[in-house]
Amino acid sequence: MKVKTRFAPSPTGYLHVGSLRTALFNYLWAKRNKGEFALRIEDTDKERFVEGAQESLINTLTKMGLAPDGNIMVQSTRLNIYQKNVDKLIKDKHAYPCFCTAERLEKMRQDQQAQKQVPKYDGLCRKLDSKEVQERINQGQSYVIRFKIPEDQIVKAEDLVYGKISVKTEDLDDFIILKSDKYPTYHLAHVIDDIEMKITHVIRGEEWLPSLPKHILIYQALGQKLPAFCHLPLLLNPDKSKLSKRQGDVAVEDFLAKGYLGQALLNYVALLGWNPGDDRELFTLDQLVKEFSIERINKAGAVFDINKLNWFNAEYIRLIIKQGGARYEQLIEQVEKFVPAAKEKTDGILKLFGSRINNLSELKEMSQFIFNLADYPAEMLVFKKSDLEKTKHGLDLALGALGKFEPKFWQEEKLNAMIQNVASEHKLSPGDIFWPIRVALSGQEKSPSPIELLEFFGPEESLSRIKQAIAKLN
Ligand code: GLU
Repeated sequence: MKVKTRFAPSPTGYLHVGSLRTALFNYLWAKRNKGEFALRIEDTDKERFVEGAQESLINTLTKMGLAPDGNIMVQSTRLNIYQKNVDKLIKDKHAYPCFCTAERLEKMRQDQQAQKQVPKYDGLCRKLDSKEVQERINQGQSYVIRFKIPEDQIVKAEDLVYGKISVKTEDLDDFIILKSDKYPTYHLAHVIDDIEMKITHVIRGEEWLPSLPKHILIYQALGQKLPAFCHLPLLLNPDKSKLSKRQGDVAVEDFLAKGYLGQALLNYVALLGWNPGDDRELFTLDQLVKEFSIERINKAGAVFDINKLNWFNAEYIRLIIKQGGARYEQLIEQVEKFVPAAKEKTDGILKLFGSRINNLSELKEMSQFIFNLADYPAEMLVFKKSDLEKTKHGLDLALGALGKFEPKFWQEEKLNAMIQNVASEHKLSPGDIFWPIRVALSGQEKSPSPIELLEFFGPEESLSRIKQAIAKLN
């Protein structure tokens, strides 16, 4: 049978990194098996409706390289299908209308809690006969549909990650499958859809594992075969709490906006709960497709560590700078979002700072001095082991030598050798000459090396900044 997986998010307006991981693992398993990766929008929670969420979701998935196959299923367009299935379940005595009011249910819950019982629907409406049900419906009473948990059974399930599960039906609640507004609950809708879509592997977050017995009962009540289930370990904050918005960024869109590269983010989340069996860490999406296996998913929660993500991102930036080509051109385009500069400059800016950044947004501040030299204090030009006299001497010599330097030789190694020569000829230490050149060009104590800066700025701008520095000292 052709493998078919699905990613089934509720449209919240952004893609959580945990959901990105779920989407990725579904994608990988489908592609690894030459199967299909489908997208289903689970939008039956009317209160949580977010305008435009669906479009932005598809956009983000596509940007990340995880474009879904085939048609996109949207649950809110399928209400009549859920209703039909509910009618069948009622007819077959697997479900029943429940008229209990919110107040009654609340009181019931409180009583149960007071008696230290696990709160659970007490089954009052389960006993209603069809005549009374019809009368109450005719009177216009509001009701939901509950699933009728069979008595004295053991529900058995097998999860590809968490192994065998078995639950007594007496521990399960007659849960709601259709709300009073005729919208289905997640439990019902996703089972019906997974059946209709011919999903072979349900790969989703571990938070759904406790509900699995309920889902299995629905499959059985509908007389359907089960798909394979694969629950993914939780993503955690470094303090081991559940990964949440409160402790920092969780939206893929926010990471992209900050200048994280999609490939780096994808590579990092691939390793959250999965490993290749050795210590390799860098994988392209194609390599992941070849390597991915469900057996290598672990059960333990995986910590989302921003430092590790930074490491991946920095690695990717350096790799792309080294390799050039189409990905480099894309990188340049992204850089231009943070540093609007002419293209020739963007190249140089990446070369200057590429090895020093974790994400592209850091370039914005780092490259400030290139466009606007701050009014730095004159004392900054004097290295702590140097003095005013030697600093002035160093800068004067540098200005003279650089002024005579053939522009066509204006290149890192040659510039370095030349300044070294000047320094040793005049018995100056690096602090007397390299340091003030750095400050003159950057207005900062910490920056790329003075030689890199000279190369970047070229003769005209370099000489002009050194002249400004000399003027400050006089
Ligand atoms: N809409 C559910 C969620 O966002 C989907 C769970 C599933 O994949 O079945 O968590």
